[in-house]
Amino acid sequence: MARSADGTSSGKARSRATSGRSEEGRPEPIGPPSGSKSADPVRAAEVTRLAPGLYIVATPIGNLRDITLRALDVLARVDAIICEDTRVTSTLAQRYGLGAERIAYHDHNAERVRPKLVARLAAGAALALVSDAGTPLISDPGFKLVRAALAAGIAVTAVPGASAALTALTVAGLPTDRFLFAGFLPAKSGARRRTLRELAAVRASLIFYETAPRLADALADMVAMLGDRPAAVARELTKLHEDIRRDGLSALAEHYRNAGPPKGEIVVIVGPPIAEAAATDADLDRQLASALRTASLKEASAAVAAATGLPRRQVYARALALQGKRHAAEPH
Ligand code: SAM
Repeated sequence: MARSADGTSSGKARSRATSGRSEEGRPEPIGPPSGSKSADPVRAAEVTRLAPGLYIVATPIGNLRDITLRALDVLARVDAIICEDTRVTSTLAQRYGLGAERIAYHDHNAERVRPKLVARLAAGAALALVSDAGTPLISDPGFKLVRAALAAGIAVTAVPGASAALTALTVAGLPTDRFLFAGFLPAKSGARRRTLRELAAVRASLIFYETAPRLADALADMVAMLGDRPAAVARELTKLHEDIRRDGLSALAEHYRNAGPPKGEIVVIVGPPIAEAAATDADLDRQLASALRTASLKEASAAVAAATGLPRRQVYARALALQGKRHAAEPH
């Protein structure tokens, strides 16, 4: 392929970059050309060129073998790899012999670097975006770059693969037909409870990313705001010490309060609100008692109403009665 002195492609490739598409109006195939016997990404790179554009390439979330053949193919053939942290990506590059230039793109330099990347793409380059782990843009940098590239008429192509959110969901044993990915919750309890309150009525499994030091507090706030729903804590997925603990939210909160912060990376999955029909009086009392341990009467009633689908007035009345019983039982 013809390259200009500044390393950008020229001629036909540059004119393609305007539309970001091949002459047929589709992205060029990125596997070995038809008739080629080579399935080796590096050899394929020698014989076919990659269509200009931005490639969003998922990388492993722990186990380095969780990378697709297509991802290796693209990473071997792009002009440069845009990385969240070039040092982290170098582990992958060393393992798979990827020699492309690596450019750092993260929260601290994004505003400055983004226009340069878009200019390079507009000039006909093929660039891959990777993050430290998993799928770029998912609680990781990249959204603004994709938006800017699209606004400049550049083709954006996904090269999908691992993501901790979906990996955890598939092994949690919780409903998968509807789910909401909520990313990281706020670090402070007040803001975290407000966010959880907004999510309490969502009739879907909830997926959260969480850090080890905050796990126990976050689980306690989930009990208070979402009620005692079935949940799972998925830790170190795809790694040597993978661990998935499935239980009710209050049992999980108690476990991690007693055990202390675990090691590693964590996804928390929370099941949808318990259906009204399934919420017996005993369920209601158990959920209220658990929520009242850490939340006010009003907050606990709202959380349990959202979790069970029962009318808020009914739950509040029951909470009042429970609290009355508890006070009556207390020594004077
Ligand atoms: N883009 C990534 C993805 O697609 O999953 C997520 C990046 S986000 C900055 C990092 C968070 O993802 C971690 O704090 C943790 O909550 C979750 N995570 C990443 N790898 C994980 C793993 N192997 N096991 C459990 N959680 C993981």
